[in-house]
Amino acid sequence: MPRPLYVTRPLLPDLNDMHALLREVWDTRILTNGGPLHERLESELKSYLDVPTAMLFNNGTIALLAALKLLELPEGSEVITTPLTFAATAHAIHWNGLVPVFADVSPDTLTIEPESVRKAITAKTSAILGVHVYGTVCDLDGLQTIADEHGLQLIYDAAHAFGVTVHGKSIGLFGNASVFSLHATKLFNTAEGGLITTARAEDAKNLYFLRNFGIKNEDEVVSVGINGKMNELQAAMGLLNLPLVAEEKRVRSQLRERYQDFLKALPGIWLPPNQPGIFPSEQYFQICIDPVLFKRSRDDVYRSLQQKGIFSRKYFHPICTDFEPYRNYAIHSVRNVPHVEIVKSQVLCLPFHGGVTEDDIDDIRDEFCQ
Ligand SMILES: *Cc1c(COP(=O)(O)O)cnc(C)c1O
Repeated sequence: MPRPLYVTRPLLPDLNDMHALLREVWDTRILTNGGPLHERLESELKSYLDVPTAMLFNNGTIALLAALKLLELPEGSEVITTPLTFAATAHAIHWNGLVPVFADVSPDTLTIEPESVRKAITAKTSAILGVHVYGTVCDLDGLQTIADEHGLQLIYDAAHAFGVTVHGKSIGLFGNASVFSLHATKLFNTAEGGLITTARAEDAKNLYFLRNFGIKNEDEVVSVGINGKMNELQAAMGLLNLPLVAEEKRVRSQLRERYQDFLKALPGIWLPPNQPGIFPSEQYFQICIDPVLFKRSRDDVYRSLQQKGIFSRKYFHPICTDFEPYRNYAIHSVRNVPHVEIVKSQVLCLPFHGGVTEDDIDDIRDEFCQ
């Protein structure tokens, strides 16, 4: 029983394969600035994700910053997003000199709810930033309709949605841009890394400048870019991890079924939505525990698992509006009490990776089926 057992486990390539690839880096002595491995990974990801534009970044947060910058939103304008996400989503809006505005989540999916987004729109709104949280796909049509009606840009934090397709169409083609994280905790990782995809081939040029200080050539700097470049060591990890993604997804998909088998019969346990036509990312296995119906609280289950060396996570509790910088920000909702204020004390992500053993599953089942 390998304990502690964490909520995720980074995918790692064979060390000999890594050594062989690093040999190429040592031979060329090119460590960064769009080296050969970087170019190879970028082109592989373009075909893997089936998108005209795929631009690598050094991490998902810098990629979010750059994607928002690409949209050229008016300074001080408002970007509507969800409070049920990782801190980077709101921070990226703030760092761009924009104002995050929070809208409630849908009880069915826990993604941002179009009707609550409508409630949050003001004359200053310039964009919507949806998050495919846990890998659950946002209401793509609902959000695009609102964006079109109000002349807003639409961007997705797809950090949890690598490899997702919607009726065969890549998730990276929706909205004006999608941002992926390739962090160690994400299923496909480059240790640290990020990626922006868009449906427009023309975006590649602007994104290229945004990630490299705006440098066009030795004599010209054409935009206010940042250092968002992925290096060759990260790219090597990516090249070797990409072929391992399918098998890890297969294992996680089986684990998902095992969890669902014993959880679905329990009163007060909310399971991840089944989204027809969607090929999943298998990033997280999230549940909600209703303390009244289940007769135990989320925190109680969390602590009890922890005593067995099983570290589940309360993603994403606290929510953004509980954080010091956003404490006084309202959550716009179609309800009197925003749904997110209720589920934030119910959500729990169970260990979800290829290292979860039969013994681990037994112990987790015993925790729920006492
Ligand atoms: C991981 C994550 C990010 C940030 O990615 P980094 O690569 O860690 O910078 C952004 N948004 C969400 C929802 C994430 O889970």
